Amino acid sequence: MAQVSFDGVTVAIDDVQNNPARYARQLQRAKKSPGYAHCRCKPDGAGKLLRLAIRRYGALFHLARWPEEGPYHDAQLCPLYASAAVAGKKKSDASEAIQQTPSGLNVKLDASLSVRTVEHSPRLSANASGTGRTRRAAPLLGFLQRVWIEADLHIWMGAPARSWGQCNAQVVAALGVGKLNGKPMQDVLHVMRHYEENEAQSIVAEFDDFLGRIKTTPAVSQRGLVLGELRSVMLSSMASSSSFARQSAPSSLRDT
Ligand SMILES: [Zn+2]
Repeated sequence: MAQVSFDGVTVAIDDVQNNPARYARQLQRAKKSPGYAHCRCKPDGAGKLLRLAIRRYGALFHLARWPEEGPYHDAQLCPLYASAAVAGKKKSDASEAIQQTPSGLNVKLDASLSVRTVEHSPRLSANASGTGRTRRAAPLLGFLQRVWIEADLHIWMGAPARSWGQCNAQVVAALGVGKLNGKPMQDVLHVMRHYEENEAQSIVAEFDDFLGRIKTTPAVSQRGLVLGELRSVMLSSMASSSSFARQSAPSSLRDT
């Protein structure tokens, strides 16, 4: 597995992906100065170490590929490798529902994040983002599949197993500080963190904070998306959706 370095430490990239809380302070310092980390899998064409973008997600930080440098990483060793063909295909046009931008994904979802609960209109809830008629909108499953591909999780790098920590880190890096239906991605989509016993309190606090930002008034009900590792499926009673969400394992992608 490739080694990465930042703020004076050199560690395996999967250690950072699996334990983002352990490296949060060093990554935060490196993000401030010099503004990037290094991947040590291979030097770039000029013999220098490759840079890695450091992206913030809540209180944590994740390493992402530096724009257009995917082909320089080691194809066998490094999860940040992307072939030139794959990298070239990622250019998007303005009518696409899911667009790549330098800071992350810009998505128009075929589902509303704000639903009128009185005088409900199916037409409004199906397309209420107001971002223009010419742009296509992605269904939830299509969005999930595309995020998986953008995070390079459809490519197996030869490791015997892959933890949710790695999946989480790659998904968060792909989403970046993007937009979903015009709103900041991190405000409306919560990616559950890899569970660690000693981080349980902050994981629950982060999730509660996300749920707390989803407001419901008598007239309008807001919605958010949760992306996490599916551990079990349980039948729910018709209890309020937020209390169900607190009790159950995070689902793969569903409204809260
Ligand atoms: Zn690398």
